[in-house]
Amino acid sequence: MSKSVIIVGASHAAAQTCVSLRQGGWDGKITVIGDEAVLPYHRPPLSKDFLSGRKEIDDILIRPAEAYASANIEMRLGVRIASIDREAKTVTTTEAEVLAFDKLVLTTGARIRRLPVSGQNLENVFYLRDTADVLAIKAKAEVSTSAVIIGGGYIGLETAASLRKQGLEVTVLEAMPRILQRVTAPELSSFYKRIHTEEGVRILENVAASEIQKIGDQLSVLTKCEQSLNADMVIIGIGVIPNIELAKEAGLSVENGIEVNEFCQTSDPDIYAAGDVTWHYNPIYDTHIRLESVPNATEQGKTAAAHINGKPKPYNSLPWFWSDQFDLKLQIAGLSTGYDDVVIRGDIETGRSFAAFYFKADRFIAVDAVNAPRDFMFGKMSLTKGANIDKVKLADGNTALKDTKV
Ligand SMILES: Cc1cc2nc3c(=O)[nH]c(=O)nc-3n(C[C@H](O)[C@H](O)[C@H](O)COP(=O)(O)OP(=O)(O)OC[C@H]3O[C@@H](n4cnc5c(N)ncnc54)[C@H](O)[C@@H]3O)c2cc1C
Repeated sequence: MSKSVIIVGASHAAAQTCVSLRQGGWDGKITVIGDEAVLPYHRPPLSKDFLSGRKEIDDILIRPAEAYASANIEMRLGVRIASIDREAKTVTTTEAEVLAFDKLVLTTGARIRRLPVSGQNLENVFYLRDTADVLAIKAKAEVSTSAVIIGGGYIGLETAASLRKQGLEVTVLEAMPRILQRVTAPELSSFYKRIHTEEGVRILENVAASEIQKIGDQLSVLTKCEQSLNADMVIIGIGVIPNIELAKEAGLSVENGIEVNEFCQTSDPDIYAAGDVTWHYNPIYDTHIRLESVPNATEQGKTAAAHINGKPKPYNSLPWFWSDQFDLKLQIAGLSTGYDDVVIRGDIETGRSFAAFYFKADRFIAVDAVNAPRDFMFGKMSLTKGANIDKVKLADGNTALKDTKV
């Protein structure tokens, strides 16, 4: 009898896993089960081109329906898995349908973190994770003149840029002392604050929302420092939580994500996980991490598929990411966590193109490049090869990048 792989979550990682399985020779059944009613799509444009109306749903699908059909991959959309029975090797949907698997892949991703303040469920208060969220935001933005965004991370700032470009008055509230504090250096935070301010976005740092109230047709965001900010709409972007519950209830090992080994296998060898939901070891940084990034979801999807097909190839990828705001294309390679020095090349003070190279104990560990694709590629290649960079030469803007290699 033909063997069956079930993939739970019609996500980035799922779209890669199912195709890689077929390409790698899996001739059994492949079923992707996702609770969203849409084929797997690129999430990054949601806060960028999809929000600003430059792309529609068909433009952001990872693959058209025919690609799955022609590879004999069954897509079951709008279906949610409620539980896993590891002994019986079955999953059960919320409609009590029981489906058998030989191998199971969990690509359940992450969901938005809710803001624990009253008023977050009011009409015209939005979160932003899926196409339905953005369609609702777009519809409201078309009839609005002002928005408050709670959360100055990448998604909050991208949303601010998209709405500002549509002509709305936008205020961003960040509870921490600086925007992007969790993910980047103070120099980058100051840079993004300057650009947003130049573009007309009001950035308020060290300001936490304490309540949202409805006042007439508007909303009012009250802050812990007793300000009140009125706007037609409020968008909350304060991070995500991995969807680990299915795995946890099935008794799989979980940390800040589902624990997987270098082949994306969980603590049950017949169950794999890939994407935002995994807690995995990164050999380049010798540390366990959970990454929220498309390249990671794609690489882990390939890794899981290769192992299921009996052609194991351990995961060994450099983390990388990007963010688009106004005319700025930020590209990030590596992990800057724990850096003790940063060297900036380019004009971060008044310009819009530069790169920040991060070092730890004189070892190059990460690069953030804004409108500087060559610096990004140089940094990414160096990190992938494990090559170091001479900090002193790098700091001298006249030295060509290629001459900074150690
Ligand atoms: C607005 C926005 C902008 C972003 N921008 C960038 C960017 O610029 N660059 C970048 O690299 N990354 C970006 N990301 C992050 C990137 O989108 C994620 O890293 C990526 O989507 C992760 O894919 P995934 O496969 O882990 O799962 P997800 O995309 O999280 O999808 C998981 C799917 O599984 C479904 N699911 C969960 N539980 C069940 C269940 N029990 N049964 C059925 N289905 C279930 C979920 O509903 C969801 O559809 C952005 C994300 C957002 C939201």
